[in-house]
Amino acid sequence: MPCMMSLNVKAAFLHVLGDALSSVGVVAAGILMYFTGWYYADPLLSVAIAFIIIFNTGRMMREVVHILLEGAPRKMNLKEIDRTIKGIAGVRDVHNLHVWSITSYMHYLTAHIVVDKRHLKDSEQIMNSIKAEMEKKYRIRHTTLQMESEEYKELGEVHGKAE
Ligand SMILES: [Zn+2]
Repeated sequence: MPCMMSLNVKAAFLHVLGDALSSVGVVAAGILMYFTGWYYADPLLSVAIAFIIIFNTGRMMREVVHILLEGAPRKMNLKEIDRTIKGIAGVRDVHNLHVWSITSYMHYLTAHIVVDKRHLKDSEQIMNSIKAEMEKKYRIRHTTLQMESEEYKELGEVHGKAE
């Protein structure tokens, strides 16, 4: 299955696959029982199909719960994203960096960007560079950035300290 497949499609696919597998299995067990008289084939097959369905559902439930709890998307390393942003010219520091998913393929990012004193007039360009980089590298298409100067003092927040 392609990794970009949405969870809904994946669930539907698993459902159809489970049904098809059961039908094929029932026919196969029927033929086996008809010719050999080995009647354990039926319950054994039922248990095997049940285990396959439970295993697949369990794996998908983990993914669903992860999204519902707004966990950071898998395969996305927050430290690496932080490093990527800091590597962009004009960025002095990053804090309040948050990444989460709305669905399995829609990722959101919010962050405060401290702009280097000498690059303050390029804030908009820096913001666009970060947005472009996030989309290209991590497929994050929804970015909300707060651009700050080094002198900017926030209530209850110390610059440069990650939460
Ligand atoms: Zn801030």
